[in-house]
Amino acid sequence: AGPRSSFGISESLEELGQLADTAGLTVVGTTYQKLENPSPKTYVGAGKVSQVATAVKALKVETVIFDDELSPGQLRNLEKAFGGDVRVCDRTALILDIFSQRAATREATLQVDLAQLEYQLPRLTRMWTHLERQAGGLVKGMGEKQIEVDKRILRTQIAQLKKQLETVRGHRQQYRDRRASVPIPVVSLVGYTNAGKSTLLNRLSGAGVLAEDRLFATLDPTTRRVELPNGKECLFTDTVGFIQKLPTQLVAAFRATLEEISDSSLLLHVMDVSHPMAAQQREAVDSVLNDLDVGHIPYLCIWNKFDKAEDPEALKLEAASRGDVVCISALTGEGMKEFHEAVENKLKDMMVHVEAVIP
Ligand code: GDP
Repeated sequence: AGPRSSFGISESLEELGQLADTAGLTVVGTTYQKLENPSPKTYVGAGKVSQVATAVKALKVETVIFDDELSPGQLRNLEKAFGGDVRVCDRTALILDIFSQRAATREATLQVDLAQLEYQLPRLTRMWTHLERQAGGLVKGMGEKQIEVDKRILRTQIAQLKKQLETVRGHRQQYRDRRASVPIPVVSLVGYTNAGKSTLLNRLSGAGVLAEDRLFATLDPTTRRVELPNGKECLFTDTVGFIQKLPTQLVAAFRATLEEISDSSLLLHVMDVSHPMAAQQREAVDSVLNDLDVGHIPYLCIWNKFDKAEDPEALKLEAASRGDVVCISALTGEGMKEFHEAVENKLKDMMVHVEAVIP
C-alpha cells in the first residue's frame, strides 16, 4: 500500500519491514498496488486482497501490516478476507506496539498507554461485531449498548492517564527548574531514528546508553553531563527518534518531551549520511522541528556514519565548505576533534554569559 510522502513506496515498505523486525516479527514478503484512491472498503482492490489471502494461507502468515492508517471498517473487512486467525494492523498500530515494548520510564509508559487508548477508541466496534456474528445476531442490541459502555470506560481511563501524566510532568518541570538555576548549557541531540544519537552520546560520556541497530532504541530523553576538551561542562540530551508518518497520537503524547528541546542552548541534528534516504529523513525531522518552533536555537548538522558513506572524502570537503556541518563517525570516533571544536564555538557566547553570572 503506497504512502503519499517524499519517501518512495519501496523505501517506505522497507522501513515498515525494519519496524516489523524491531517489533520482533519476521517479514516473509511485501507487495503493493498503485491506485488512484485507496478502496474505502479494503484499502487495496479486491484482486489484491484475494492475492494476499492466497499467500497468507500458503505461507501460514500470522500478521498482515499495511503502511498507511486503516479505517476501522477497512480493518474489519480485511480481517474477514484473510480469515479469523490472521491479525491485520497498520503502521500506526505497529509503531504504538514498539513504543509500548520500549517505554522505559513512567512518563513514557503513560504517554504510550494514552496514545494506544486514543487509537483504540474509534476502533472499539470490532470485537463486538465478531461476537454478534457468532451469536447469529441474537445479541445485536446488547452489542451496541456494550460498545457505549466500553467507550465510556476507555474515556475514563484516558482522563485518568492525562491526570497522572500531569503529575509526572510537574515533577519533571521542578527538575528542569532546578537544572536551569545552575546555568549549564543543554545540548539536545535530535534526529531520525537509527541515525546514531545513542552511539554519539555513549562516545561523549561513556554513559552506556542502549545503542541498537533497531528503530526506536531511544524512547526517553537521556541526559548526561559531559566535560568538553576546553574544560567547560554541558549537558547532552538524547531525544526520541523521529520517523516519517509518526502516528499523530504519538506526536501529541510525546509533545511535552519534545518541547524540552526548546529549552536547549544548542541543537545537534544527527543524520545518517550513509543512508540512501538521508535527504528525506532530514525533511521528516525538520518538519517536526518546525512544528516545535525552535528556529531561534543555535543549530549544527552532524553528518554521522560518514565511515560507511560512499565517498567519505567528498563529504568531508562539502562539510568543510559549509558552515554548521561536522562530519563524524560516532562508531570509530573519527571527526570528534572537529565535533568538539564546533560545539565549543557554538556555545562560546553563552558560556561567556554564564561566567558573567557566576564569577
Ligand atoms: P539512534 O536511534 O539515533 O539512537 O541510533 P543508535 O545510536 O542506536 O545507532 C543505530 C545503529 O547505527 C547502531 O547499530 C550503531 O552501531 C550504528 N552507528 C551509529 N553511529 C555509527 C557510525 O558512525 N558509523 C557506523 N558505521 N555505524 C554507526
